[in-house]
Amino acid sequence: MERAGPSVNPFDTARRQIDIVADLIGINGGVRELLKHPKRELTVNFPVRMDDGSYRVFTGHRVQYNMARGPTKGGIRYHPQVTLDEVRALAAWMTWKCAVVNIPYGGAKGGVVCDPKTLKIGELERLTRRYASEIASFIGPEIDIPAPDVYTDSQTMSWIMDTYSMQKGYSVPGVVTGKPIALGGSEGRGEATGRGCAYVIREAAKDAGVRVKGGTVAVQGFGNAGSVAANLLHDEQGATIVAISDSKGGIVKPEGLNPHTVEEHKRKTGSVVGFPGAKAISNEEILETKADILIPAALENQITGKNADRIQAKMVAEAANGPTLPEADTALFQKKVTVLPDILANAGGVTVSYFEWAQDIQGFFWSLEEVNQRLERVMVRSYSDVRKVAVDKKVHNRSAAYVLAIQRVVDAMKTRGIYP
Ligand code: NAD
Repeated sequence: MERAGPSVNPFDTARRQIDIVADLIGINGGVRELLKHPKRELTVNFPVRMDDGSYRVFTGHRVQYNMARGPTKGGIRYHPQVTLDEVRALAAWMTWKCAVVNIPYGGAKGGVVCDPKTLKIGELERLTRRYASEIASFIGPEIDIPAPDVYTDSQTMSWIMDTYSMQKGYSVPGVVTGKPIALGGSEGRGEATGRGCAYVIREAAKDAGVRVKGGTVAVQGFGNAGSVAANLLHDEQGATIVAISDSKGGIVKPEGLNPHTVEEHKRKTGSVVGFPGAKAISNEEILETKADILIPAALENQITGKNADRIQAKMVAEAANGPTLPEADTALFQKKVTVLPDILANAGGVTVSYFEWAQDIQGFFWSLEEVNQRLERVMVRSYSDVRKVAVDKKVHNRSAAYVLAIQRVVDAMKTRGIYP
């Protein structure tokens, strides 16, 4: 996945966000400092035998940001531009995300600097197994539980689960989530992020006076999160999807696109671009398209101080992580755009990951209906918790979500006390 948008150090953004909230609720001194530092970081450099017989050295990271509320949780990303600061930021965001939806986890993230598109399947397997071995003593069902992220998937998780289990001498399904059902995965995990996002949009639309039924939606990024959100808003909530994009470009059709047919076109041709009857637009233009609801579901740093004024949507639901820069938040708040921040809007994924882990540990599995019902309860309750803080403190939803999350983490830190 290419990077778009200005080059901003994501960990600087993550720390600025912590300062904003700490100022707001009066967190100072050592507690503020601690919140701005990852608890533990592991960087590993390791060799992988390539198919042509040569060896290459790869670098991987795993950052456990804060574990006051429980074992840490977060995905593993394979990307050529992975940096330690990016992994730190993502680990911090996972900490707040787990706290917003009140699941008993701290936050973590991992990454390997590699271009998975250029690796053969055997190379990818050996890279994954070696990285898993290198971090094996750092992870575990009671310590830190990885999951898929950009360019990793259920196959990657299966290799990690198997490698970890081989070292232990018995099967440990609870060491990772996002596994296939056959290895202890959960029903509903595949669509949990998009589904959770659709629930939050439904709830927030009532408060914001935004129409979903008969309203219009633009989706930037038509992958797992974006396509599921578009399908559910279209099928279950009666929304009209007017614009969709992927890494190759976007399409717009004010009368409405059927997201299932667009998905079919993408499956056949590799992109949404060229969909019959729709006009082409760029990934920058889709953000500024006329639509009631905008769902950024691709990359970081998309809505900036430069384009925030041109956003026409009344609601921005962040299926992607970090799509909006802090200066854009202020501009959107002043324009009375309802922003549903990433740590709330895309928390459906980690919530069902938590359900997967809970099922693995119990060895007792739930039906799809049970998973979706529990997910809906968590998302509805979490939105309402965030909304209450936003109204009480007269702040925008992102600050409210951070206040709620950081307060929960700080309460856990303070109650536990400082060891020794
Ligand atoms: P994905 O790989 O399935 O989909 C990403 C989509 O974005 C693809 O359609 C791709 O073509 C498109 N894309 C790539 N570069 C683009 C660009 N420059 N402009 C526009 N579109 C571009 O990934 P995903 O799992 O859907 O994740 C998308 C976002 O959602 C990421 O920010 C991810 O961190 C976040 N997220 C995903 C989950 C999950 O469970 N899948 C959970 C939480 C957050």
